[in-house]
Amino acid sequence: MNLILLAPEDIENHRLARVTDPRRLRHLREVHRATPGDRLTLGVLGGGIGQGELLALDDREATFRLDGLDQPPPPALPVHLVLALPRPRMLARSLEHATALGVKAITLLHTRRVEKSYWQSPELAAEKIHQHLVLGLEQARDTLLPTVTLEKGFRPFVEERLPGLLEGRRGLLAHPGMAQACPRGIDDPTLLLVGPEGGFIPWEVEKLLEAGCEGIHLGPRILRVETAVTALLARLF
Ligand code: SAH
Repeated sequence: MNLILLAPEDIENHRLARVTDPRRLRHLREVHRATPGDRLTLGVLGGGIGQGELLALDDREATFRLDGLDQPPPPALPVHLVLALPRPRMLARSLEHATALGVKAITLLHTRRVEKSYWQSPELAAEKIHQHLVLGLEQARDTLLPTVTLEKGFRPFVEERLPGLLEGRRGLLAHPGMAQACPRGIDDPTLLLVGPEGGFIPWEVEKLLEAGCEGIHLGPRILRVETAVTALLARLF
């Protein structure tokens, strides 16, 4: 939590912020080892960033005096990430990493090698997803939540949604063994597709290439989904 992320309702009169949830209070005590008088970085969800002085901290509440949350959050990456739904624990970490790296649009997609049971996971509840996104924002000192969309059918996604998503975006399909190496340092609006632990099946690769995506590889090492997401984003942007 390199940034104390406030909800708009945590702020009174633009000057005073109250934090009352156990997670943030514990973090303030145990990680920041914060004491009254400390100045910390705060941001408001969907808004600006600034500094605040901790006025008081006890088991129930921390209060801050804000100096104005008028700095913009860091720039976003120009990417829409399409991720085949990973297993729940990997989903949590992938969402957190992608958010920390600046992704603002995430689609979770069903593909043949996604276990159907993953769609029943409690980790997909809106509240759980929100928690992982918030952890990513706090880590990266950001305030703008990504949008997360669930696409439970591969074929409808490719036929109905993908053409629109590829308008004005460069589609990049990460798949081991593709001919083209992952590009570096681009700033084009991009749609990046990452497969499940078992990879995309050949038919899916064919459909995505037919739709206009470019196949890219990251070299001979097969990476876990969360590592692949991080490596791809770091190398692309
Ligand atoms: N078992 C699968 C790989 C799955 S890795 C296979 O051998 O094809 C999970 C996902 O991470 C892949 O679908 C791909 O999108 C991405 N990925 C992992 N390593 C990669 C690499 N070396 N090049 C491109 N994409 C990779």
